[in-house]
Amino acid sequence: MPASPRLHDFAQRVCDWQRQHGRHHLPWQGTRDPYRVWLSEIMLQQTQVSTVIPYYERFLARFPDITTLARAAQEEVMAHWAGLGYYARARNLHRCAQVVVAEHDGRFPTTSEAIATLPGIGRSTAAAIAAFCWGERSPIMDGNVRRVFTRYFGIHGFPGLRAVEQQLWALAEQAVEQASAPLDMGVYTQGLMDLGAQVCTRGKPQCAACPLASDCHARLHGLQQVLPEPRPKRVVPERHCAMLLLHGHGHVLLEKQPENGLWGGLWSLPRYDSREALVSDCQARGVAHAEKGRMASFVHTFTHFRLHIEPWMLEASSLDTETRPGERWIPFELLADTATPAPVKALLESLPPA
Ligand code: SF4
Repeated sequence: MPASPRLHDFAQRVCDWQRQHGRHHLPWQGTRDPYRVWLSEIMLQQTQVSTVIPYYERFLARFPDITTLARAAQEEVMAHWAGLGYYARARNLHRCAQVVVAEHDGRFPTTSEAIATLPGIGRSTAAAIAAFCWGERSPIMDGNVRRVFTRYFGIHGFPGLRAVEQQLWALAEQAVEQASAPLDMGVYTQGLMDLGAQVCTRGKPQCAACPLASDCHARLHGLQQVLPEPRPKRVVPERHCAMLLLHGHGHVLLEKQPENGLWGGLWSLPRYDSREALVSDCQARGVAHAEKGRMASFVHTFTHFRLHIEPWMLEASSLDTETRPGERWIPFELLADTATPAPVKALLESLPPA
C-alpha cells in the first residue's frame, strides 16, 4: 500500500533539504531588514528571480531605505520599476512606504496580521516578511508553494477557487502547528519557495531530488502533470487600438495614463479605438497622416485580454501642434528615464535619430 502524505515531519524535511540544497546567496538573503525583505517579496510576485535581481539592486541603490522611498516622487519610483510589469505593485509599494513612515514612525509592524493591513501586502507576503524578519510561525501560500502542496497532498480543483484555497491554507497551518521539532521559520519559508522554484517545477518536477518524494501523492499516482488543476477555461477577449508615435524636432508626444486605467501612472503614446479615430485626431492636430507612417502591428497580452496594436509613426512639423490634457512633448534624451510600458518602450526605439 502506498504511503500517505504526512504532516508531522513535513516542515522538518523541507528545512533539512533547504539547508543542504536550497538557495543561500540571493541578494535579499542574510538580512532581517524588513524593507529589503518586503521589496524582494513584492518584486518576486509573478516574476522570476533572474529578472528581479538587477531591478532589486538598482532600486535599492536609489532608494536605500523606506524613508527615501516614501519621499521620492511617484514618477521616479515608476521609472525604476518600468519593465518589471504589474505596475500596481510599484504604486502600492510607494503608498505603503508613505503609510509606514507616516503611521508607524518609519518602522514596519512586526506581526503578519499588522503587516497584512498595509497597502499591496497580502496574507502570504505578510507571513513571509514576519517569518524572515522575526521568525513568526505563520505559513506562506504563494504560487510555488501551492504547486508543492497540491501535488504532495493530492488536492484537486483549481487552487484559485475559494474552497480549494481554504483547504491549502488549512494544510499550511497544520504543517507548521504539527511540526515535531523546533522550527526555523526563515529556513522553512525559504525551503518551500526553493522547492517550488527549483524541484517541484511546473513543467518537469524533479521528483528524484525531492525530499517529499517517498510519500508524495502526485508522484505515487503519476499525477504530476494533472496537479495543480488549471483555471477552468475562459475566452480571453481581443481588443484593438491604434497608437500614435508623433515626433518632431527631437521630441515625441507622450501622455500620462490615468492612475486606475491601463498602464496607470506610466507615460504612453496617444491611443485610439480605431485607425479612423487616429486619422481624425491627426487632422484636428494639423498633422499630415500618410500611409507610409504605418508600422507593423503586434499583439500585447495582458492577464485579462489581448491588445492588438496598430502603431503609426508620423512627423509633426512643429511642436505647437495642439496637445490634450496629460500630454507632453518629451525630448528623446529623456526617454530612458521616463516610465513607459514595455510595448511602448519597444516602439520608441524605432524613432529616427534627433
Ligand atoms: S515528489 Fe515530485 S511532485 Fe511531489 S512534491 Fe516532490 S517534486 Fe513535487
